[in-house]
Amino acid sequence: MSTQRERAAHTRRNDPADLMALVRRLYPICRSITGDGVRETFDVLAESIPLQRHEIESGTPVFDWEIPREWNIRDAWIRDEQGRVILQFSDHNLHVVSYSAPVHRVVTREELCRHVFTLPDHPAWIPYRTSYYAESWGFCMAHERLAALPEGRYEVMIDSTLEPGALTLAECIIPGESDEEVLLSTHVCHPSMCNDNLSGVAVLTGLCQWLAGRRNRLSYRAVFVPGTIGALAWLHLRRRGLYQIGAVLVLCGLGDAGAFTYKRSRAGDAEIDRIAAAAVQASECGGDVRAFTPYGYDERQYCAPGIDLPVGRLTRTPYGEYPEYHTSADNLDFVSEAQLQGALALCRRIVEDLESNRRWIATCPYGEPRLGKYELYDNRSGGGPDADQLALLWVLNLADGRHTLVDMAERSTVPMATLAHAAERLHEAGLLRPARTGESLRPLSVE
Ligand code: ZN
Repeated sequence: MSTQRERAAHTRRNDPADLMALVRRLYPICRSITGDGVRETFDVLAESIPLQRHEIESGTPVFDWEIPREWNIRDAWIRDEQGRVILQFSDHNLHVVSYSAPVHRVVTREELCRHVFTLPDHPAWIPYRTSYYAESWGFCMAHERLAALPEGRYEVMIDSTLEPGALTLAECIIPGESDEEVLLSTHVCHPSMCNDNLSGVAVLTGLCQWLAGRRNRLSYRAVFVPGTIGALAWLHLRRRGLYQIGAVLVLCGLGDAGAFTYKRSRAGDAEIDRIAAAAVQASECGGDVRAFTPYGYDERQYCAPGIDLPVGRLTRTPYGEYPEYHTSADNLDFVSEAQLQGALALCRRIVEDLESNRRWIATCPYGEPRLGKYELYDNRSGGGPDADQLALLWVLNLADGRHTLVDMAERSTVPMATLAHAAERLHEAGLLRPARTGESLRPLSVE
């Protein structure tokens, strides 16, 4: 575990977070659900944030699954009969189907076409395809290039290995005053696409840097996992500690130009739902809040019935709803620093609201306290109270130990940040104290 000083050094070195620089560095790396691409990615992230890595051996059972053999690739190409290069893996990581078995042989054009994936509707783009759990080999290329290939024989070569090894995942743990944890998760298994998944990796890294540089009430655990099998492996690894997790946020697809979309947890009204939905709806570009469905990213694993963590998912445009999704057009031009920073700012807002979402007990509850005594009364207000005064009154009124700050925000329609500031002022003035677990204010008649 890193010390406070190490974390502070990490933060200084990278302040302010240049998220596009990180995306640019990670873009050329060929990631998959296992292999050296994921390790290399973690090497880069570890320059900015403290990372604990875990290697889980191939063949290890995780719930109904098993860690697969490790996949690595060095080279691949297609050549025509004259030896001219038709496709070269070093030109684009998407050119080879992820988890392709090694192959080196001569095939007819017809057989080649059975192993090549293209996008006829977007003839210049390369699609992204995987074959994790059914051994095969394949290439992906621009449809216009395949269409231009004449009849004849083609030499195909994929220099890959599928061998016993390990699945690599990483955690960044930022302890707070309380053991209660917020789990932040993003997937790290995609090669050379920026919105899916490098935007999630970059925003979560920036969020960890920011969290590490401040004092937090809650503890934070960011997990960088290969999709599905990595999330399952992490759940299996940490299955005894899941009870400490009070909120989960899955992050990905945060770099495109679309507005934000929040997908609710299975319960639909968990603390994270109420806070994130309000933050998304109040965001500058507006936002969409959607009901839970059992499909999607790794929220599928975190909310499985025997796990049942309160998990929401934050994206901009959801996967599959933009044509560049899972293609070579999800490139460095598809995302921008401003869009990534906008997502990071929204994540910070959600974290700040989680941090301030506590119950308070008024120390002077029998009638309103005389705010002038505490320099909290605004003598200038001739008419009704201004927004800050009203926030003080709402917090004082609902500080009975039964209302969290998000309860107060929903009831008052005052933003959580305004109520949090009011609560802080009242706390400093000695008019509030944090409620103990299960504690609520007793009426005067039973004192
Ligand atoms: Zn994806």
